[in-house]
Amino acid sequence: MIETIYVERAIKNHPRTKKILKKFKKSRIISIYKYGEIFNKRNQNFRIQKANPSLILAHKKDSFVLPAPEGFGIGASKNFYFSHMYNCMYDCRYCFLQGMYSSANYVIFVNFEDFDIAIKKTIEKNIGSKVTFFSGYDCDSLAFENVTGFAEHILSFLSLHPQIEIEFRTKSVQKEPFLSMKPIQNVILAYSLMPELMSKALDNKAPSISKRINVISELSSRGWKIGLRFDPLIHGKNWKELYQDLLDNIYQSISIENLHSVSFGSLRFPKRMFKDIFKLYPKEPLFAGPLSLNKKMISYDIEIEEEMTSFCKNLSLKYINKDQMFKCSI
Ligand code: SF4
Repeated sequence: MIETIYVERAIKNHPRTKKILKKFKKSRIISIYKYGEIFNKRNQNFRIQKANPSLILAHKKDSFVLPAPEGFGIGASKNFYFSHMYNCMYDCRYCFLQGMYSSANYVIFVNFEDFDIAIKKTIEKNIGSKVTFFSGYDCDSLAFENVTGFAEHILSFLSLHPQIEIEFRTKSVQKEPFLSMKPIQNVILAYSLMPELMSKALDNKAPSISKRINVISELSSRGWKIGLRFDPLIHGKNWKELYQDLLDNIYQSISIENLHSVSFGSLRFPKRMFKDIFKLYPKEPLFAGPLSLNKKMISYDIEIEEEMTSFCKNLSLKYINKDQMFKCSI
């Protein structure tokens, strides 16, 4: 239940604003001038706000499409991302958003058509390059789909541009709009996964791994292209057995011919961000693990990272080709 919804005056009559507000009949609506009045102000406490976040409906003015950080990608030469929303309904302990924003309120930008225009321009500027777009870098791309309808909107636009790829990365078990449509070959539904035992401790409020695997299995059998994202890889007691079980389980549960790619990423935080996150959860066992400062990043030692990545890659080779695997190193 969202108790309070802030609405920017400029978009109060936007059809998408009205559609979203209809879903929250009992919420208190407050008119604001700019979303920045409420979001990311200093002296907000992410952890306290996360218990009862408000929703903010806003108009995005610029920076619709941005280059993805170096090291983020699944094989294309050009990688871009866009976020129709800031923040997430889940509460993963390692989430970088809690170190990036001081507010846990959700912001939804309702002017989706401006994303279409910016994506189209980016495609036109990069003709001849292999381009991948990532939806929802600053949120979970599908968790709030029932409210926003963003994926449904953008899919009809992207199906007109088969030369580019788009990834929706998620931990949700959101099946629509995908079940009601024919699969679109340049769309990748990418699921973040870790062993169930670790996920129970870290992926707060997110669907269980077994539920995610059921959805992956269903959507892959319908022909949707699937990405598996073991990112971050988490070190801990019995990690080898736990990852072996997970990898065998997932590869045996999905239609392997519809597996687009698999990527592995390390647990890492920029030093400053780690400080902020640590302050929120000083007793979190994850942060007491074998982490150290390496080149301005807090991460596992390189030997641990490499051991985990090669262990998982070697296991995956039983099921998939080497060229389907990527390492995410941001
Ligand atoms: S699902 Fe992703 S965006 Fe949402 S809290 Fe977890 S890590 Fe953060």
